[in-house]
Amino acid sequence: MIFSSAFVPETGYFAPKFQVMQTIKFRVNNRDDAFFQALQKEVSTWLDKQKNGRYANILMLGKGVLFLSFFWGAYALILFGGFSSIVTILLYASMGVSGLLIAFNISHDACHDALTSSKLFNKVVYYLTFNPLGTDAYLWKLRHVHSHHPFPNVDHCDIDIDNNFLIRLSPNRPLLRHHRWQHVYGPFLYALYTLHWVFIKDWAYLFRKDLANLRDIKHPPGEVFGMIAAKAFYFFYLIVLPVGMGLHWATVLIGFLALHVVMSYFFLLTNIMNHHAQEADFPMRDEKGYLPGSWAQHQIATCVDFHPKSRVWNFFFGGFNSHAAHHLFPTVCHVHYVMLSEFIIDKAAAYGVAHKQMSWWAALLSHFRHLYDLGHIPLRSQTDQKSQEQYENHQVSGEQP
Ligand SMILES: [Zn+2]
Repeated sequence: MIFSSAFVPETGYFAPKFQVMQTIKFRVNNRDDAFFQALQKEVSTWLDKQKNGRYANILMLGKGVLFLSFFWGAYALILFGGFSSIVTILLYASMGVSGLLIAFNISHDACHDALTSSKLFNKVVYYLTFNPLGTDAYLWKLRHVHSHHPFPNVDHCDIDIDNNFLIRLSPNRPLLRHHRWQHVYGPFLYALYTLHWVFIKDWAYLFRKDLANLRDIKHPPGEVFGMIAAKAFYFFYLIVLPVGMGLHWATVLIGFLALHVVMSYFFLLTNIMNHHAQEADFPMRDEKGYLPGSWAQHQIATCVDFHPKSRVWNFFFGGFNSHAAHHLFPTVCHVHYVMLSEFIIDKAAAYGVAHKQMSWWAALLSHFRHLYDLGHIPLRSQTDQKSQEQYENHQVSGEQP
């Protein structure tokens, strides 16, 4: 096997220490899932023939340099360009776009050790490219790799759907009175998404012992110190230094806000529907703690792809549009996802697995319909047979126990 699953435990001094809730298992073992076994074989054979195997290729290097140049080039123009306030604010806003292209295309792959075989190199690239965007790299990886990836869309396991008072993203979370208007106020709240990460979420996560499926978390002191240092650097280079270089403080603050609003919308309107659309499933554990189907079936049932075989979308969105490929093979660099999506779609059709794909626009509309639905649908119970049957009807008919 030339790739591994998403949740290989990290080791070493800087690895986070935590316990994973052990009661959650999948009803079907991956080894007994004919769909996933056949898919893995095909993907392995194809990756073996690639020059760098599952890792990045020369295209990645080129676009990495390109997107980093856009980001730091705009910053240099802010500092030394002597432009008007309007142009300066637009340059800040452009950093919201290029910053997210860096996160999509470089940081996310590095976070999954998918760039090269060197874990140290991946880590250095991840920290150096992600921390300057304002969100703490260490905490984001903890959440993304150890909580979201193993159990997407599972209540109390996927941190992405837990603990959100204002927006209800899962039918398995309680319905509150104000949720009936979430399809109206949600799009406005989305503008604050990355600001919330920078100012609130990172700090709240730092002090929490339990996080979704993770228990008794102990952060390494080096990472805590690193986060404080990274935050200080972030505010210094984006706010303090430009003001110190003579830019008006109001221009800098408006520019900073513009960066975050642009980055937030760019991120959410191209990513949130990957798991939060009408077509995505929200599987429930049974009374013994089992999720239906296999891990692989779970990943494909909870992901919604848009234009998964498009090389243009892949180039700009780092394979987030081929989300099933990413969740099934998270340690494979996204440059291979176009081909992997071909394999997934073929095998899914052959084995009767429902692979969900649509256009970006259709996925976006589906997300807002999903928001509306969840503002009105009551809490699903553990014994909601209709939902369970609906889920299992999406799966491989011959593979269920
Ligand atoms: Zn990921």
